[in-house]
Amino acid sequence: MKIVFATNNAHKLQEVRQILGDRFEVVGLADIGCHEDIPETAETLEGNALQKARYVKEHYGLDCFADDTGLEVRALDGAPGVHTARYAELFGAGDTHDSNANMNLLLRNLENKSDRHARFRTVIALIYQGEEHLFEGIVEGEILHERHGHEGFGYDPVFEPEGRGVSFAEMLAADKNAISHRGRASQKLVEFLKNAKCD
Ligand code: IMP
Repeated sequence: MKIVFATNNAHKLQEVRQILGDRFEVVGLADIGCHEDIPETAETLEGNALQKARYVKEHYGLDCFADDTGLEVRALDGAPGVHTARYAELFGAGDTHDSNANMNLLLRNLENKSDRHARFRTVIALIYQGEEHLFEGIVEGEILHERHGHEGFGYDPVFEPEGRGVSFAEMLAADKNAISHRGRASQKLVEFLKNAKCD
């Protein structure tokens, strides 16, 4: 079954393909000739995921899914949340849009906080056979005091999932996928698609 994943992120495509397995041919935005920047202007993860999926459906007429992820830190009242990707760009002092700047700002904002609890939350919006569906995945954990490991991407070096004793960036991709926010949301998507009729 062919389905569009509304992303240009090769890393995420590879991760989701691993989780979805052979039954689905997952194609990215470049594969369908979509090279424009899809707007992500909603105030929630759900809103952004739906906005992206609807865009592909409206402009390309294809069934698709889109995700949005936020890192929600308790001591920061749920920030960076919907602004996770552009945290430093939006709230840092002249920082740029990259993972290092984002992690620096996060560690700085948590410097005097004893509560390090955080969670990653992913929402996947699926448009399939004319209907919209939402799937959520959460992984609880905490923000470390410094970076550990070199695998993965984004905030992986400073996020330790509950009960693991290592950061996401110290885990094998398959082990991370099995417990991660995106992994869990993707499992729900797969369950749904497995049981869905394909006609
Ligand atoms: P997106 O909605 O998947 O693009 O995620 C938003 C931002 O959250 C990304 O730019 C990353 O900084 C961060 N992020 C998402 N997933 C992960 C992950 O698995 N590990 C670390 N950071 C992540």
